[in-house]
Amino acid sequence: MDGLHYEGMIIRPPSEAESIILQVTRGCSHNKCTFCGTYKGVRFRIKDDAIIDRDIDYAARNLQFLRRVFLADGDALIIPQGRLAGILQKIRTRMPWIQRVGLYGNAKSILRKSPQELEELRDLGLGIVYLGVESGDPQTLKDIRKGVSREKMVEAGRRIREAGIKLSVTVLLGVAGRERSLEHARATGSILSEIDPNYVGALTLMVLPNTELGRRAQEGAFELPEPRELLVELREMLAHTHMSRGLFLSNHASNYLPLKVKMPSDKEKALALIDAALEGRVRLKPEWMRAL
Ligand code: SF4
Repeated sequence: MDGLHYEGMIIRPPSEAESIILQVTRGCSHNKCTFCGTYKGVRFRIKDDAIIDRDIDYAARNLQFLRRVFLADGDALIIPQGRLAGILQKIRTRMPWIQRVGLYGNAKSILRKSPQELEELRDLGLGIVYLGVESGDPQTLKDIRKGVSREKMVEAGRRIREAGIKLSVTVLLGVAGRERSLEHARATGSILSEIDPNYVGALTLMVLPNTELGRRAQEGAFELPEPRELLVELREMLAHTHMSRGLFLSNHASNYLPLKVKMPSDKEKALALIDAALEGRVRLKPEWMRAL
């Protein structure tokens, strides 16, 4: 076999574009979020050790110019501690130049690890965990079937930070629909303040036809806020977000107004920029650019 072994489409955070992507699991262990079509119909499993080993060997021989590793797919943190520690150990031994390993972890799999286990993973090179928070609004978390309460989400996020691992979270603009837009915005700002992550990515929800939310939208039971309402939502969210440091990004291709806010110093400037956009003094991205 030549090259890395991949099954299906590989999803990774934008910040891992320059990383070696090692696919250690297939699918997502939760796979129930109503807005997510990424792993529809895919049964979650951990890939064979032999395949993972071969990939690490391949990367060690051929990808020495890359400094980071990302472990895909949806929720690699669910891998039992001994096995995950073994994978990190192998990466460290075979690729000692690697500076950081990252992965997606959902709240449940984070909470299945004890603080000591997370510290062990950190010592073996796990440098960043990506967590999909989506919303801080308890009702919205329930509606989108995130499978975790607000309290547990906070606990999970904090556990990563307390283990000395960087935490990058995503929240979804529009995910609560039009009616709950502002509740979602405020509660999400407040959960971000409680978790105090290193990075926040506020992405605009794309309603996909192959999802439960897509079906609800077609039936008229879910309405995505209009671009202007999404901007008001973003403003409200940012205004309620109090982070001690880190970045609040809203620069995904699916967003209407790209923002990179150094927290807390640039927050007021960013709010003023959003206000200018709301007053028509800054142009929003035209609709056709969103698909880029
Ligand atoms: S946890 Fe993530 S990958 Fe899994 S269903 Fe939810 S959004 Fe999709």
